[in-house]
Amino acid sequence: MSTIPAFHEMTAQAPALEAVNAEMQAIGAEFDAAVDDEGRLAAVDRWARLERSISTWGALVHLHFNQDTRNPDYQKAREECDRISPALGNLANEFKRKLLRSPHRAALERRLGTQAFALWHCDERALRPETEAEEIRIAGLCAEYTELVASATFEFKGERLNLPALSKYFSDSERGTRYDAQKLRWQWVSAHRERLDRLFDELTALRDQAAHKLGCQDFVELGYLRMRRVDYGRREVEALRQQVVGEIVPLCSELVERQARALGIDKVMYWDGEIHDALGSPRPRGDHDALIGCAQEMFDELGHGLGDFFGMMRTKGLLDVKSREGKAMGGFCTAFPTYGVPFVFANFNGTKSDVEIFTHEMGHAFQAWSSREVRIPDYLWPTSESSEVHSMSLEFLTFPWMEKFFGDDADRFRHAHLASSLLFIPYGTAVDHFQHLVYENPQATAAQRFEMWREVERRYLPWRDYGDLPHAADGGLWQTQMHIYLHPFYYIDYVLALVCALQFFVRATSDREAAMRDYVALCTRGGAAPFLELVRAAGLASPFAPGTLGATVRKARARLDGAR
Ligand code: ZN
Repeated sequence: MSTIPAFHEMTAQAPALEAVNAEMQAIGAEFDAAVDDEGRLAAVDRWARLERSISTWGALVHLHFNQDTRNPDYQKAREECDRISPALGNLANEFKRKLLRSPHRAALERRLGTQAFALWHCDERALRPETEAEEIRIAGLCAEYTELVASATFEFKGERLNLPALSKYFSDSERGTRYDAQKLRWQWVSAHRERLDRLFDELTALRDQAAHKLGCQDFVELGYLRMRRVDYGRREVEALRQQVVGEIVPLCSELVERQARALGIDKVMYWDGEIHDALGSPRPRGDHDALIGCAQEMFDELGHGLGDFFGMMRTKGLLDVKSREGKAMGGFCTAFPTYGVPFVFANFNGTKSDVEIFTHEMGHAFQAWSSREVRIPDYLWPTSESSEVHSMSLEFLTFPWMEKFFGDDADRFRHAHLASSLLFIPYGTAVDHFQHLVYENPQATAAQRFEMWREVERRYLPWRDYGDLPHAADGGLWQTQMHIYLHPFYYIDYVLALVCALQFFVRATSDREAAMRDYVALCTRGGAAPFLELVRAAGLASPFAPGTLGATVRKARARLDGAR
């Protein structure tokens, strides 16, 4: 551990395309000239080192930009990274293609695992030089979206606030304050509708164009390949949607009615959504430093190496969770594979979501740390539905320690978190279904897309009522859902992962140690297997198997009252 430098000492040289090209040619030649498996594997290891250093550079560049979106040097570095990343990906793909076509593939698969080859097969189809121009333009538009949203400032209650700071008031215990804060937010979105529409028009057209260039019928097909889904497809997701409509929507309608009773109101309006009882949203006690201190105690007690790991992240400066102007919104975990460490980014705003986002991102971070020794760079992170199992499960596995953050309000926190997790299932499914409609109908106008969103809301979120909030009431809520712009088709992954995380939650209530052991073992595997195999090995039922979704949600729901 002493060999890990502090974050501020971490550097990564921007790779020169020609130099990477020369190194890749040399690695290819070494592979071809090798006389046995050991020689071929040595070439694979040399490639893996190169990939790790490129991905460390990319992660640092993107993190710096997110830490200060207004810094011109960081902007420039990110633009350069976006400009050459597609070409770097294409060079890596050339080598992957060599491995896929190698007469020694069977022997390599035995040593490296079949999953890498399945993933590379997706990459071979989905990432090709023909669409480089589209990818560069898409990255530029995505950065424009990020900068636009980060630039939003609001005058509220005599303060100048960015969106994460304003969103603190979305869960205020005063109903009028919640409404006013939401109104301000949606006025801002409404004022930027033209730009948000234009960005999405362009993104949709470019993604559709890329799909056709690569021989896919639409961007849905290409999107699935880019998500590297190797053991399920459109049909399974479609069947899951049916289960959500049949089993989860009625149950969530009931939860929302119960929420109205708990709040003593006739109807849960959009601005009440985050409040689950009459006392309002529970808030963590103490400032940033106090919360980090509580987190250290919690991880120490949780065991299984989490305490030492978190201590390392603190001493090495691998956390940036304070909100400030110019910092990109949201929370994420990234990693620097050369150094073998992750980094957690968030925007604390004094609400319960600080704890939720923090435990979530720490789950990603713990997985990245646990599997840092994997041989193949493609195994450092699993595909995203598997990744989200690590993060969402930790949100629930840390439940017994919530007194440290919320004191007497810990039960109210657990109840609110569990209820909002269950309510997330239809929302997540709606976001995913919407994207299918968008990319199956790439010619749709902006107004038609608003109608599509209203259609999925009626199906999955029939209780939603935006009152007179501008924009949202017209079907524009999706324009604030970052993933729809930046990470197409990522959203169902949260639903799939949540069904797994809820299973860990239920198991932990009866046998905590067994659940923790399986959780840690799952993290240690990283991405060495596809989703359904990881799920099976962790002793969980597949979210696609008929009945799993309903049974899991019913069991979790039965603990809702206990959580209060
Ligand atoms: Zn996540």
